[in-house]
Amino acid sequence: MDRLFIKDINVRGKKVLVRVDFNVPFDSQGNISDDTRIRSALPTINYLLDENASIILASHLGRPKGKAMPEFSLRPVAKRLKRLLDKEVIFVEDCIGDKASDAIGKMQPGDIALLENLRFHDGEENNDPEFANAFLSLGEVFIQEAFGNCHRKHASMVGMTYGHMPHAAAGFLVKKEIDYFEKAIKAPMRPVVAILGGAKVSDKVLVIENLAESVDKLLIGGAMTFTFLKAMGYDVGKSLVEDTMLDTALKIIEKLKKENVKFYLPVDFVVAERFDANAASKIVTYQEIPSDWMALDIGPASTKLFRETLDDAKTILWNGPMGAFEMDAYSRGTYAMVDALANSHALTIVGGGDTDLAFHKTGESYKVSFISTGGGAFLKLLEGKELPGIGALTKSE
Ligand code: AMP
Repeated sequence: MDRLFIKDINVRGKKVLVRVDFNVPFDSQGNISDDTRIRSALPTINYLLDENASIILASHLGRPKGKAMPEFSLRPVAKRLKRLLDKEVIFVEDCIGDKASDAIGKMQPGDIALLENLRFHDGEENNDPEFANAFLSLGEVFIQEAFGNCHRKHASMVGMTYGHMPHAAAGFLVKKEIDYFEKAIKAPMRPVVAILGGAKVSDKVLVIENLAESVDKLLIGGAMTFTFLKAMGYDVGKSLVEDTMLDTALKIIEKLKKENVKFYLPVDFVVAERFDANAASKIVTYQEIPSDWMALDIGPASTKLFRETLDDAKTILWNGPMGAFEMDAYSRGTYAMVDALANSHALTIVGGGDTDLAFHKTGESYKVSFISTGGGAFLKLLEGKELPGIGALTKSE
């Protein structure tokens, strides 16, 4: 990656403002149910501790829409971080203004503070320069570590471009995300296989068009399949279809042909009478979907086919489940792909909320080369776009 990295700039003893993505999920009792995002920031926090910096962490949480709402407070995150680091974490009740500057004014080298939710101010999502400057003035150096938010032009993500923060660089997580992505796309070991699943073709058109220019094989699963099959003239019963995308699906097939990408669709499905875990279900080929049933997972022959296409892969990219995997009855296809990637010798890169959830559930996460922490940001990279939060990092030091 050719942007500045935290190790390229002087952070020793400085007040370092770190934009993190601590937008963690909570269970019904209000406890953090998955702290992966907090853990992902630990390498940067530990590096800054070694450098004797004063560490000021800032994040968003949920969608409070510019209002201070207690249910979106980052206070529980400060507690979890304290436990993970075994070190005091100062919780600051605002992210700008007197409360923030007073608390930060008292910080000593080696102290860690977490500011309250940036989205309690509407200036954050509106990308208000005044808010950005009030926030950035809290630190001497800025580190971008919120990869999951890098596709959003919010004040704390791109405010550095207003000129009030000369020293801005990527943290360890952001660097790792970009480095892995570049390994898979810019100079990959071939063959490169991309697996795309999930609900909608419309969400992934730009991704497919961009990947068509760099991958060797493309596998499509999930509900997206049925828009392609219908466009090709098959009866897909009551399976999910985006009727407005039928022409686009045909154009995509043409483009894949033109680019010499080998294109694979599932050849059989688990079909059910309705979208229900307990509905009657059976396995049929792609030509036999009954007109009043819906296909909810790929079948065993597709799983075998997809596994075989991965056999010679040197690089595999995966986004999106193969079926309605939240229901056990329709989860086999997705978990078979988890197993295939976990046992592959290829460089394996996985991204997108549902896909990483499937890996975490099986406990196989450690067997893939990299799981991206950003759903939307990961997809934007796959579309070939520069992320605003990365583009805003300057080379000014
Ligand atoms: P996405 O958000 O686009 O990654 O889509 C993920 C969602 O697609 C999951 O909630 C899956 O349950 C759903 N999904 C995948 N395959 C199917 C299918 N064949 N029928 C209905 N929903 C599906």
